[in-house]
Amino acid sequence: LRICIDKARCIGVGMCEAVAPEVFAVQPDGNLELLSDSPGADQRAAVEEAISVCPTGAISVQDG
Ligand code: SF4
Repeated sequence: LRICIDKARCIGVGMCEAVAPEVFAVQPDGNLELLSDSPGADQRAAVEEAISVCPTGAISVQDG
C-alpha cells in the first residue's frame, strides 16, 4: 500500500487518526503527518476505514 494525502483537501479533523492511529497523526497545528506512507498489509483494513471516514476524500492509496 502507498498512501497519498491531498494536503489541499485535508482539514485536519483527525477522523483518519481515530480509526488508524498507527498510520495517521494530526499534529497540534492541524497538519496531518503520515507515520507510515507504505504500511503493511496488516494495516489495510484500518486504512480503508480511514478513507471511508475522511470527510473530504483527502486520502488515496495505491497498491504496491
Ligand atoms: S480524516 Fe481526512 S481531512 Fe481529516 S485529518 Fe484525515 S485526511 Fe485530513
